[in-house]
Amino acid sequence: MTGEEIKSAHKQYNLQSWSRQKSINPIPLQKAEGIYFWDYDGNRYTDMSSQLVNMNLGFGNRAIGDAIKAQVDRFCFMAPSYAVETRSELAKTIIGLMPDNMGKVFFTNAGADANENAIKMARMYTGRNKVFSRYRSYHGSSFGAGNLTGEPRRFPLEPGIPGFVKFFDPYIYREAISFESEEAATAYYLAKLEEQLGYEGASSVAAIVMETITGSNGVIIPPKGYLPGVRALCDKYGILMICDEVMAGWCRTGTMFAFQHFGVKPDIVTFAKGVTCGYVPLGGVVVSKSIAAYFDDNLLSCGLTYSGHPLACAAGLACVRYYGEADILGNVNRVGKALGETLEKLKEAHPCVGDVRYIGLFSAVELVRDKKTREPLVPYGKDPEGLMGKIIKLLSARRFMTYSHENCVLVAPPLIITEAQLTEELSKLDEVLGIVDKEML
Ligand code: PLP
Repeated sequence: MTGEEIKSAHKQYNLQSWSRQKSINPIPLQKAEGIYFWDYDGNRYTDMSSQLVNMNLGFGNRAIGDAIKAQVDRFCFMAPSYAVETRSELAKTIIGLMPDNMGKVFFTNAGADANENAIKMARMYTGRNKVFSRYRSYHGSSFGAGNLTGEPRRFPLEPGIPGFVKFFDPYIYREAISFESEEAATAYYLAKLEEQLGYEGASSVAAIVMETITGSNGVIIPPKGYLPGVRALCDKYGILMICDEVMAGWCRTGTMFAFQHFGVKPDIVTFAKGVTCGYVPLGGVVVSKSIAAYFDDNLLSCGLTYSGHPLACAAGLACVRYYGEADILGNVNRVGKALGETLEKLKEAHPCVGDVRYIGLFSAVELVRDKKTREPLVPYGKDPEGLMGKIIKLLSARRFMTYSHENCVLVAPPLIITEAQLTEELSKLDEVLGIVDKEML
């Protein structure tokens, strides 16, 4: 097929996610290597979002490809009830990377079903039925994960599942109150959460589910003491703490898992994306030793045909080994420092940049009409003039490929990016922000 034929068949036969089908305009792609991909006319694009913040190791990683091929030669599939080397070894490796309270892994196909199964296990283990999650979070688009989600992508599922309660996250930049310090903000949000637990009946709450660092809703990093404070509330009321590490996990933020920045031990961790970098889909739920022990005698009423798919586990094992062998965390911390410094300069230089938030190679640029009032460039949930789409187009025209959410542009390149490559790409972002300053405010 030619590029044009591929594009036209895509438009005619595929239903593309999160899109009005009439407005889609997919680029037909021919090949990809490292942080780049090419269309059928030979144009090279830079992946500045790691696709959907999943391709942490970029395209064409030989070690992952070879591990998949080796497993294809042995067998492609074996039901979850058989012991398979890649499945056993990956679970063992993941537990080895976790804090000492964690016990076992239940593998899923991706992130949404990891969260589905996490809340199911939490409800079975605690015998309670309410689940707390936060506004401005995204946990997946299936029914349960979609009900955890605290932004408009859950609206088609409403009126929603009874017992799914939302609370406010510590988004200090957009808070009406100003705080003297991060600690003061933490104390405020924790007091509100405890108050809400009281009104909901804390003894009926099975779990508090949080993206450790909120991802697609604008890389919102919790203030000092916030996660330990949530942990303490969970301990006080017998609630399970579930950290969704689907986007923030696997070296993205400069530690293997984002919760490691904050010195907390969750009861359940969900993961997906970077565990295989998308070479084969895989997700999972890691549970504490005590939750694992509960299911020694009680039925684990969870199941998926492809739980722990041997090919996916082969990819996962190669991927996780590669993170260590190639010192990916070293690169994330080195290049991430440069990313943060450049983003701070962009914020200084451009009236349209209200805030920049970054940790490791995970960052967002929040656009405003006015730095002082912090009025967002586009109102929440709306973009009547299509401004964010225009900004993404201006970036794409310079082959800087990423996406936006509300008034934030995401910058989350593959974790193998070099400082020189990053500098080249951020100069394109600088140029586009200059156009926003002149033409869109
Ligand atoms: N949780 C978080 C934090 C995510 O960012 C995503 C997807 O972006 C999901 C869950 C859902 O994962 P998936 O799309 O693999 O189902």
